[in-house]
Amino acid sequence: MNVLTKYWPAQQAQLGVMEAAAAIAAGGVIAFPTETVYGLGGNARSTAAVERIFTAKGRPSDNPLIVHLANKKEVYSLAEHVNEVEEALMEAFWPGPLTLVLPVREGAVSPLVTAGLDTVAVRVPEHELARLLIEQSGCPIAAPSANRSGRPSPTQASHVLEDLNGRIDGVLDGGATGVGLESTVIRVVGRKVHILRPGGVTREQIQSIIGSTVEISPPNDRESSGSESTASVELAPRSPGVKYAHYAPKGEMILITGPMEKLAAAVQRKGDQAAASGRHVAIICCEEHSASYHAEAILVSGPYHAPETAAHSLYALLRECDERGIDYIVAEGYPEEGIGAALMNRLRKAAGGHEITVD
Ligand code: AMP
Ligand code: MG
Repeated sequence: MNVLTKYWPAQQAQLGVMEAAAAIAAGGVIAFPTETVYGLGGNARSTAAVERIFTAKGRPSDNPLIVHLANKKEVYSLAEHVNEVEEALMEAFWPGPLTLVLPVREGAVSPLVTAGLDTVAVRVPEHELARLLIEQSGCPIAAPSANRSGRPSPTQASHVLEDLNGRIDGVLDGGATGVGLESTVIRVVGRKVHILRPGGVTREQIQSIIGSTVEISPPNDRESSGSESTASVELAPRSPGVKYAHYAPKGEMILITGPMEKLAAAVQRKGDQAAASGRHVAIICCEEHSASYHAEAILVSGPYHAPETAAHSLYALLRECDERGIDYIVAEGYPEEGIGAALMNRLRKAAGGHEITVD
């Protein structure tokens, strides 16, 4: 595939949105900023457009896409029904980084979007350019993250071009994205909210709205193939996408977790071992520890008690490691409260499950 990828700089956003919306309406695929990460969008009703998204990304076809809507009203044309817990959560968090998996109305979107499931994942993004783009294109926009499958999600337009230049019709530059991690994906069964993927809206925020137990689905290594019977889906819904390798840098990565004061010694030891065997080592760490380390690259993710800063910068740091030829990354863990839960989920995935806990 080799197409000319148009680039609209942030200063030409208004013209960019108009042209990008027209391209999407005509069956094109366009990368655009959201408050989470950059998405690669196409008309969710068009199988040809959705096929182009999968091809450009190299995404497995059994990994369904999130449909982005301009406003909450649109959800009723896509979902078969919406219960009162779902209503309350949409009311509280839309527009914003919360995706709901709902029973799909037959024929509402291309079957490729849902990977043949009887549910559809939907959200209303908060980013102004995303909202305008969806409104002006006049269609629901199916959009996974705008990276090659398996790579860290793009949080800047330059990341999109790195991965997809020549494979998509255009990129709308809106600067760096805010949250920096993907949306939270949930499925409500009765009065229980299952978090299928932690993300920009935290478990604590969801709990404060619904007041009852928020169930977290089991860790990803126990995810099944996504081909469960309807009965087991009702008991424990799954997000098919979470079984795939994700968010990974090119080098090997290890995550060190434990109390803050114990981290530094273990991180330095791991880094030194790798360097001694000739590896190009990077340490990704909190601000407080950065001065105490020595390594080929020391990349600061943010203050230890401000995981939102680390969330915002994580994917850019992983890409920086790739650019600098780093082949061994040692990363410090963060506390798992609030956005820290999503941050740790992505760190674990990036590390392919390699984790050492010190205590
Ligand atoms: P991405 O587009 O890369 O941000 O990933 C979207 C996430 O939403 C993946 O983990 C998908 O598996 C999940 N998802 C999308 N549609 C559904 C659905 N119908 N049921 C469950 N999970 C879904
Ligand atoms: Mg993705």
